[in-house]
Amino acid sequence: MSKETLAKTIREIPDFPIPGILFYDVTTLFKNPSALQELSDTLYEMYKDKGITKVVGIESRGFIMGPILATRLGAGFVPMRKPGKLPAETIEESYDKEYGKDTVQIHKDAIEPDDVVLLHDDLLATGGTMEAACKLVKKLNPKKVYVNFIIELKELHGKDIFSKDVDVESVLTL
Ligand code: AMP
Repeated sequence: MSKETLAKTIREIPDFPIPGILFYDVTTLFKNPSALQELSDTLYEMYKDKGITKVVGIESRGFIMGPILATRLGAGFVPMRKPGKLPAETIEESYDKEYGKDTVQIHKDAIEPDDVVLLHDDLLATGGTMEAACKLVKKLNPKKVYVNFIIELKELHGKDIFSKDVDVESVLTL
């Protein structure tokens, strides 16, 4: 399946969750067996030689391909969640959203200094969420941090927000 065909499996919903937002719905990609296989294969090819030991998925749409990719890479999976969801000791990072602040948390013992980490989420818009996720993971001093999205919205230039030491790649640029 070509990238173009894969992109066509993503449903676009105007004005969701609020007027003016064009929402990219990846559930229509996930429910399509060939598209899901293609995405899994593409992600595996992108990261198979990077020595990834932990895939960190961002709540909640990073919890779908994150574990699929982790099993293919022979890596562990770590959830990064909204406050109050993780049961053991956590560390956190807050960031500014369009309206107010948001916070992400991770278990303090989830990443070790010898880990090579791949952070994964479905979509890069402004990059605020993933930048906070990167800062949080870096507090646990992994060897290297990679960042991946299924979709990157190029007009928003979210990629520019990341520091140069972080390797940011997307499967589809829309
Ligand atoms: P941002 O922090 O602005 O990069 O926003 C990224 C987060 O918001 C991701 O977890 C996305 O799933 C979600 N998101 C932002 N914009 C959209 C959109 N247009 N369609 C689908 N999800 C979006």
